[in-house]
Amino acid sequence: MKAHVQVAVIGGGVVGCSVLYHLTKLGWADVCLIERSELTSGSTWHAAGGFHTLNADPNMAALQGYTIKLYKELEAISGLTCGLHHVGGITLADSPERMDFIKAARAMHRHMGLDTQIITPEEIKKLSPIVNTEGILGGLYDPLDGHLDPSGTTHAYAKAAQIQGAEIYLRNPVSDLTQRPDGSWDVTTKNGMIHAEHVVNAGGLWARELGEMVGVFLPLHPMEHQYLITDDLPQVFTRDEELPHIMDPSGESYLRQEGKGLVIGIYEQDCDPWALDGTRWDFGHELLDNKLDRIGDSLEFAFKRFPCLETAGIKSIVNGPFTFAPDGNPLVGPVPGLQNYWSCCAVMAGFSQGGGVGLSLAEWMVHGETSRDVFAMDVARYGNYCTKAYTRNKVRENYQKRFSISYPNEELPAGRPLNTTPVYSIWQQQRAVFGQGYGMEHVNYFAPEGEPLLETPSFRRSNAFSAIGKECHAVRTSVGINEVHNFGKYLVTGKGARAWLDGVMAGKLPQLGRITLSPMLSPSGKLMGDFTISHITEHEYQLTASFGAQDLHMRWFEQYLPAPDVVLKNISMSRIGFQIAGPKARDLLALCTRFDVSQGAMPFLSVRKMEVGQCDAIVQRVSYTGDLGYEIYVPAEQQVSLYHTLANAGVAFDLKPFGMRAMMSLRLEKSFGSWMREYKPDYTPMETGMDRFMDYHKDADYIGKAAALAELAQPPKRKLVSFMVDAIDADVVADEPIWKDGNVVGFVTSGGYAHFCKQSVALGFVPTDMITEGAAFEIEILGEMCSARLFSEPLFDPQSRRMQG
Ligand SMILES: Cc1cc2nc3c(=O)[nH]c(=O)nc-3n(C[C@H](O)[C@H](O)[C@H](O)COP(=O)(O)OP(=O)(O)OC[C@H]3O[C@@H](n4cnc5c(N)ncnc54)[C@H](O)[C@@H]3O)c2cc1C
Repeated sequence: MKAHVQVAVIGGGVVGCSVLYHLTKLGWADVCLIERSELTSGSTWHAAGGFHTLNADPNMAALQGYTIKLYKELEAISGLTCGLHHVGGITLADSPERMDFIKAARAMHRHMGLDTQIITPEEIKKLSPIVNTEGILGGLYDPLDGHLDPSGTTHAYAKAAQIQGAEIYLRNPVSDLTQRPDGSWDVTTKNGMIHAEHVVNAGGLWARELGEMVGVFLPLHPMEHQYLITDDLPQVFTRDEELPHIMDPSGESYLRQEGKGLVIGIYEQDCDPWALDGTRWDFGHELLDNKLDRIGDSLEFAFKRFPCLETAGIKSIVNGPFTFAPDGNPLVGPVPGLQNYWSCCAVMAGFSQGGGVGLSLAEWMVHGETSRDVFAMDVARYGNYCTKAYTRNKVRENYQKRFSISYPNEELPAGRPLNTTPVYSIWQQQRAVFGQGYGMEHVNYFAPEGEPLLETPSFRRSNAFSAIGKECHAVRTSVGINEVHNFGKYLVTGKGARAWLDGVMAGKLPQLGRITLSPMLSPSGKLMGDFTISHITEHEYQLTASFGAQDLHMRWFEQYLPAPDVVLKNISMSRIGFQIAGPKARDLLALCTRFDVSQGAMPFLSVRKMEVGQCDAIVQRVSYTGDLGYEIYVPAEQQVSLYHTLANAGVAFDLKPFGMRAMMSLRLEKSFGSWMREYKPDYTPMETGMDRFMDYHKDADYIGKAAALAELAQPPKRKLVSFMVDAIDADVVADEPIWKDGNVVGFVTSGGYAHFCKQSVALGFVPTDMITEGAAFEIEILGEMCSARLFSEPLFDPQSRRMQG
């Protein structure tokens, strides 16, 4: 065993082996893998081995596609077989809603370059005669679906890595990790100590325990999962060709051929988190007791859908545990708050995702960033709010909903409420319908009297449509109030604050009392954030960005700290308040403060400390609604007091509360983009129009400067634009393909219905040479082609007289 390595990967399941392989592939050969027992000793050995590309996140789907295509490469390098069966797969749809779901998925696949197809019940029957198609309306066919040999594949990764220089130490549990002052790690193993510059937690079923060794909680939990293998069946072995996979969401089941019989796996509703207090270190190649009573109803359903199962004998039953994060996607990347400690766990579909996950982590380690945005699986998408119990509740919910339809407007109920602001009960009394983001409750909209306190999940316009329209109207015609807790906020203070910010931000920094908007870039010139920067006092700045990106941004900032005389603090939860927006916003604020808030004293993009009611507030003249507006920040404990001040004064202006749905509708009227929709690490300033906030040639050597200047010299081939869409009862969500002359030429980033302007709007990317005012395109919404017309002037207040006046 080596005494020193560049990277020690802990865990020899499919994921650890993939990381090891990809590190060597990218040129890091001084790497080792340390395995407690033999390779595949966690969830990997008892996996059913299925793989597919389907994922709601386009980049995750692309990485799944990469994984599947990688297996041939692995076989070639290692000389081992992965036992590949590329048989294709069909997801059944037996209701109009599920047809909408697969049509939406199909549309998304078009711009992702995936060749899925909607097929008829007759075509399903032809491809898989064992399916009873009664009640089936159609299916989504994915030619890339298939299955493999889990053990053979893991060994192929391992062998390929060894051929490229990696070492593997088996039967050698890691029992402790101690960090040295330089950030490297002493890894204590049964067979001695290894000094590693970096460690990777690929501990699978034991990833929680490996996290605890360094004092972190990784939000994942194992769930039990069962599948059955039947005896040989004539309906199977008399065929010349192997049967395709079938996903039957209504039955919560997946089914595939195994030899001359079938495998059926069930995501049962009656499910339980496994090993609540941790995974036993001596849990080995063992299975859990069968719990057939839990899947009785699903089996009954399966007998109707696949009649040949009813009389089939059961050869074996597998009940094994595997891990999930609350949203079912992996936890990958540098663990916030720790140096050189990388997470690569909670991979619930190791044979669909393992390759892409390993590639992304290796890119991150070797190149400092990934080649595509991987926020959907970034460990930093969760924060400290994620308690163990909340994680379990969400993991259980995710497991149960594995095959459920995911609606774009759906708010999942498990584990809620968790975090709330002080005005939560005030909103409740006003019939708020809440959503949740990053563990925090926020108002989506206010339900009128007599209407349910629930937005009906739908791909089409929901029951909330008219209530949201009224909220938008209230803002545009008088004044509305909404919380500003939904921003991530950071306080940067100290004599070195300005110089540090100048190096981290790519835009111009504000003068005292002013606000600027600034992109933050990665070294390769991709967007890492879209910040509002307020210069409050001489050495005091407030940064505002996306609430859900707090850990991402803190991890990024800390990478560029310490810096001389700079103190950085995340104040997202301690400084909250409200925004007031609409033509009467200034009159309302004037009634609540003795300070001068006239246009002369407080122009657009200014910031002031002032008393508002009894609170010492920070007031910013800015609004994401694109209207005259102010953001008023106070200490969290004074939020209720501030509310009463504004609400009492607001009676004179018919002040109305509005929620996030209205806010998102209002921003569309100004074609304002939003983080992780229009702005994310896949895109650049010039592509997104964020170049208008860049200070390209400033003296500071800001992160991403060289790449930004290179883009300036060679402008991008695609750009973000806005469309008016002739939608009927369903608006775009994201990732719909944009068509021109029968070809897919771009994709939607977000959109919806702009209520005040009464227009369905989409934002999306198209090639720059197609961008002309009024150009005609089509956008595919739920399988229907909708005419779309490109426009460049905001629909509302194009001269920004309201916002700036
Ligand atoms: C019944 C069942 C069916 C499944 N079917 C499929 C399927 O069809 N398709 C699919 O893609 N996925 C399937 N899965 C999920 C799949 O098994 C997992 O996604 C995958 O195995 C995760 O691999 P891993 O490497 O992250 O974790 P694991 O396989 O759990 O590997 C972790 C490894 O780390 C080692 N380790 C832990 N702690 C230490 C330590 N301290 N020191 C040294 N070594 C350590 C362990 O011994 C283990 O070998 C299924 C899972 C189950 C339970």
